[in-house]
Amino acid sequence: MLLPADYHLHTPLCRHATGAPGEYAARAVALGMTEIGFSDHSPMPHDDFDDWRMRFDQLDGYVDLVSQVRRDFPALTIRLALEVDYLPGCEDWIRELAARHPWDYFIGSVHYVADGWDLDNPRKVSLWQSRDAFEVWSDYFRRLTLAADSGLFEILGHVDLPKKFGSRPSQDCALLYDRLLAAAARRGAAIELNTAGLRKDCQEIYPARQILDGALARGVAITFGSDAHAPGDLGADFGAAVELARAVGYRSWCRFAQRRRQEVPL
Ligand SMILES: [Zn+2]
Ligand SMILES: [Zn+2]
Repeated sequence: MLLPADYHLHTPLCRHATGAPGEYAARAVALGMTEIGFSDHSPMPHDDFDDWRMRFDQLDGYVDLVSQVRRDFPALTIRLALEVDYLPGCEDWIRELAARHPWDYFIGSVHYVADGWDLDNPRKVSLWQSRDAFEVWSDYFRRLTLAADSGLFEILGHVDLPKKFGSRPSQDCALLYDRLLAAAARRGAAIELNTAGLRKDCQEIYPARQILDGALARGVAITFGSDAHAPGDLGADFGAAVELARAVGYRSWCRFAQRRRQEVPL
């Protein structure tokens, strides 16, 4: 089976990933993959925002790093991208980032549901105890829907990230999912099948089957990503992800070059 492109790869610049980009590329070649994309955590307007992303003055170096890997692995298609944190009001900053380099795609991700709370941060997992899961889900999906509606992203990252540590609301979330998917369909944003969820407490690909069913019904396209923070993560569980996508009814995934989309048969 020809594996789809792994579009969610990090680099040590974000301070919580290991392995040189060339090691990721070598791993992709070893797996028989023909295309990958680096999408490291984007800088924020202020470098003291948090400690798990590249600084702004490292952005040009990041682009150079990806260019170097492209030269070292000419047979592998390597995309230049960012995983961009979406926060309401940060749209101009994201446009500024977009204008600086010839990106192939932006993954729009919500990690922050409130000031100072990145809900997937293992150091802040205790904050979940004082919060109602449905409220967190509602805040999170409200923000991700704004991200989709902004039109700034080709791909929406790990769509149901709040399940990471295993908390799940008992209420029905169908309306939250539907609003998000309607916005994604309207703006032509794809969602990723992110296999990192299988390596977390939730032990499930992001997003859940229910969301993928809704996405297909609304004509929302898909990509694949391992969210690799080490070379060994690259392509992890892609067989299971492809199987899931096919079971849902997807017959294609999409690739991006210079922020333009192309459908590829699955
Ligand atoms: Zn990360
Ligand atoms: Zn992320």
